[in-house]
Amino acid sequence: MRAVIMHAPGDVRIGEREDPVLVEPADAVIRLAATCICGSDLWPYRGDDHVHETPMGHEYVGVIEQIGSAVTTLSPGDFVVGSFMASDGTCEICAAGYQSRCAHVVPMGGIGTQAERARIPFADGTLVKTPGMPDRDLLPSLLAASDVLGTGWFAADAAAAGPGKTVAVVGDGAVGLLGILAARQMGAERIIAMSRHADRQTLAREFGATDVVEERGDDGVARIKELTSGYGAHSTIEAVGTQEAMMQAIRATRPGGHVGYVGVSHGVSLPGEELFFSGVHLHGGPAPVRRYLPELIQLIWDRTIDPGKVFDLVLPLADAAEGYRAMDERRAIKVMLTL
Ligand SMILES: [Zn+2]
Repeated sequence: MRAVIMHAPGDVRIGEREDPVLVEPADAVIRLAATCICGSDLWPYRGDDHVHETPMGHEYVGVIEQIGSAVTTLSPGDFVVGSFMASDGTCEICAAGYQSRCAHVVPMGGIGTQAERARIPFADGTLVKTPGMPDRDLLPSLLAASDVLGTGWFAADAAAAGPGKTVAVVGDGAVGLLGILAARQMGAERIIAMSRHADRQTLAREFGATDVVEERGDDGVARIKELTSGYGAHSTIEAVGTQEAMMQAIRATRPGGHVGYVGVSHGVSLPGEELFFSGVHLHGGPAPVRRYLPELIQLIWDRTIDPGKVFDLVLPLADAAEGYRAMDERRAIKVMLTL
């Protein structure tokens, strides 16, 4: 099959890989309907994470082709959405709703879903089928649910977004933008997007942002305080993963407030004394997207939300290299790859 391989930083090409086969009885093999490039794929692309001849991709929607003998809830022909982390769905961590940290978790990035087909471990625990075969125009939103929507949703949940709350969002990538959509769905009263890019500000407002702050770092924090009578936000979403973004999130949050952090942490270290006196709740990590998938799929199916708008560039899988370039150069927010 054809698949995306990152040979070295900056060097992405389409190559041939073995077709996936069932390995464990709980596995399924899917034929991808669409996949995409993640902001986190840019870490190795830019040389910040090790990469060498690596299959890429962890987001996916598609149709089941084969199921193992232990799979009970799915059948060939089902259209499915799955999380970027495969999870057994049965351990105590999964039962508690933290499937992305399942005792037997399999990161889908290690399997590589920027490909024509993929093996999905723990199919019953990982995949959720849609109510029927989706119309083509629903594919971007269903694909978004596989990671960026689920991650933005978890961030808003972890930040305790809800009625009467002011939510600040650090990061205007796809996850931050969908954190805005999630906070709006959860009933937040005011949503402050931190962004200095006009196209992203526009989308932020479409998704429900009521205010935009262009300043960053301590200046950004000062603006959030100005907008909240000096208190800071009740809820802050951190969707970047850098030291500056994490400190901006903590400092923008009022004592007793909540920070939901979902940017993959790179070189972040937290000052203990400042954290102590901040009095904020910190919760985050790799989002347990699987927990939210049934609800998110239904909201998309009913056309209540349209998270697929974050895909502002759609290319065939064969043009993946151009997709990586476009995201690296910030010409695209998020790139969908069609099959
Ligand atoms: Zn588990």
